[in-house]
Amino acid sequence: MAQNLDALLRPRSIAVIGASNRLQSLGGAVTARLLNFGYQGRFFPVNPKQPEVQGHQAYKSVLEIPEAVDLAIVIVPRDFVIPTVKQCREKGIRAVSVITAGFREVGDEGRKLEEELLEALGDMRMIGPNCMGQVNTHPEFSMDATFSPVAALPGPIAFASQSGALGVAILNVCHERSIGFSQFVSMGNKADVTENDLIEYWADDDEAPVIALYLESFSDARKFREVAEKVSARKPIVMVKAGRTDAGAKAASSHTGALAGADTAVTALCRQAGVIRADTIEDLLDISMLLSRTPLPKGGRVAVQTNAGGPAILATDAIIGEGLEIATLADETKAKLREHLPAEAAVGNPVDMIASAGPKEYAACLGDLLADDGVDAVVTIMVQPPLFSPREILDAMQPVIAAATKPVLCVFMTEAAFHQEIKEVENPPAVFRLPEAAAKTLASALTYSKWREAGRGAPVAPKMEHDAIGAILEAKKAAGGGYLNAADTFRVLEGAGLPVVPWRVADDADAAVAAAAEIGYPVVLKADSAKVVHKSDLGGVVLGIGSDEELRAAITRVSEGLAGHGVAASDVAWLLQAFRPAGKEVIVGAHRDPQCGSMVMFGLGGKFVEVLHDVQFGLAPLAPGDAQTMIESIAGLKLLTGTRGEQGVDLDVARDAIERVAALMREHKSIAELDVNPLMLRPSGEASVLVDGRIRVE
Ligand code: ADP
Ligand code: MG
Repeated sequence: MAQNLDALLRPRSIAVIGASNRLQSLGGAVTARLLNFGYQGRFFPVNPKQPEVQGHQAYKSVLEIPEAVDLAIVIVPRDFVIPTVKQCREKGIRAVSVITAGFREVGDEGRKLEEELLEALGDMRMIGPNCMGQVNTHPEFSMDATFSPVAALPGPIAFASQSGALGVAILNVCHERSIGFSQFVSMGNKADVTENDLIEYWADDDEAPVIALYLESFSDARKFREVAEKVSARKPIVMVKAGRTDAGAKAASSHTGALAGADTAVTALCRQAGVIRADTIEDLLDISMLLSRTPLPKGGRVAVQTNAGGPAILATDAIIGEGLEIATLADETKAKLREHLPAEAAVGNPVDMIASAGPKEYAACLGDLLADDGVDAVVTIMVQPPLFSPREILDAMQPVIAAATKPVLCVFMTEAAFHQEIKEVENPPAVFRLPEAAAKTLASALTYSKWREAGRGAPVAPKMEHDAIGAILEAKKAAGGGYLNAADTFRVLEGAGLPVVPWRVADDADAAVAAAAEIGYPVVLKADSAKVVHKSDLGGVVLGIGSDEELRAAITRVSEGLAGHGVAASDVAWLLQAFRPAGKEVIVGAHRDPQCGSMVMFGLGGKFVEVLHDVQFGLAPLAPGDAQTMIESIAGLKLLTGTRGEQGVDLDVARDAIERVAALMREHKSIAELDVNPLMLRPSGEASVLVDGRIRVE
């Protein structure tokens, strides 16, 4: 159900508890900001010692206010916060925003207080504590209840920040770049209202076509995934998630009492839920700005127009570097461009209109490029024009940009003052200072656009023998857990529908010979022992055994070798497998992320895993397409699809294996971790098999 946070973000009346005449205090600063920003509702300062605050009659307590109050901003010393909130509740106030700090972020005592504060809330909703307040720039409210030294500009982005200080810094940058907000919330400790509540609330807000987030930790990662996936389908969510590195994660935990999640899980979560993950605050603003001002790109073919050569070369490099393409212009388009440009101009792509280009040339050529069916987006570059003002040129292009059904990205490499002017332009275009930023931003928008286009199907739920699998896992769990032996591992993997190579287990040489006869030579002998993790490291794998004699000899040799490593014969069982022709070895693994749930991993297997770490993660449940995306995202994909005339391998087997492992993890919670290494992939039409696996039960 959608959250109703109207009392917090669309209040008709506000009490500021702790309002003050001293502008140097937080209470004074918030009051001044609220008044100066032109709050449209009723305003009641509360201060026990002053009859008047900043020209308004003050009340000794909220209980004395003669009218109904929607929202109370609480800026009293920490020990008064809970009694104050109780009074708010008694008064029938609907929501509070607690700016006061000193709660969960300061340790155990603060954590306890925060719990008491939550209890005192009752039905009221709360932002904070330890926050910077909130903003709604809509003229019906004009509410800026923050102590930020800069006021937010009105605009289309709904923005929630976990860090108040960073929120202020962002508002500053936005001023310079003429980027505005519909609403802004500094979430503080997120004791009640979280990013998930805000996303749901903003999902239905037509004033905010884009949701931007700065997060240090998820309040509830599983819920975030669910909410974000739903909302991303109709409105973009752009996020900076801090705490990517271990050091970053520590900084995050000492900052707002948050524990940052493992980054791999976050990357997978974003990719699957359609959340656009920005690397930096600058990128966050660029992407939010672009998505709020232009249509989504339908493809990656980009046309570039420019009045100078150098920046166009940079743009070309960046466009290709981001995996986009330089569009091939139709002859018809080139002919039209010729008509609009002097003979010295170049009408290939990039279109170099040369330094003399003015309003007419920019507008006409932009129109020509947009009309070309082979163009999905246009980057228009303007270096400070010698003969015209940038504003004249922008004004001429504006109607063309406004009518466009494709994104136009303006790279204005002009004097800084011009960027400030852009906020005066009605429906401003997407503006960048450098071509690289435009290319990077467009690439993010395209990834999102494709995610949305593809849609999210129902979770993949391959058929498997759950009862048989469950029985093996239960028995192991009852015995205290740990690694399954080879036989049980393969039974579980077979039960899950994975292509396990034909196998048998045997206790001694005679039994091994009998087993080999059933499988058929050539066979592989492996020592199965709880004491041996990497079998080949200890000489525990013998490939290509062709006869009974060879097999007996191998058993003797391996036993002796293991004894030398201190592994007794009684701790070893013999695993026999059919020997199969070598393939491309891949790994499919799985583990549980404490915040996000079961995760599957795919990558190049065998030794490559340890050396290259070329792996990709996905979060269960997987939707159709997720496994394919994981496969296509590994750096070494070409090694699997075939290079230099070599035949590619059957990636459908890999996709199916990833999906089955994800489903197995999701259905059988007692599997703590699992890996299949290797799955030996062969070209399609030949049998790909899994020859080794480990499953830990907990
Ligand atoms: P470990 O990983 O414990 O060393 P594996 O069972 O993965 O042992 O075997 C090591 C390597 O031997 C595999 O990566 C693969 O190259 C090869 N291999 C193992 N089993 C077979 C088999 N049945 N057919 C062909 N090659 C195999
Ligand atoms: Mg192995």
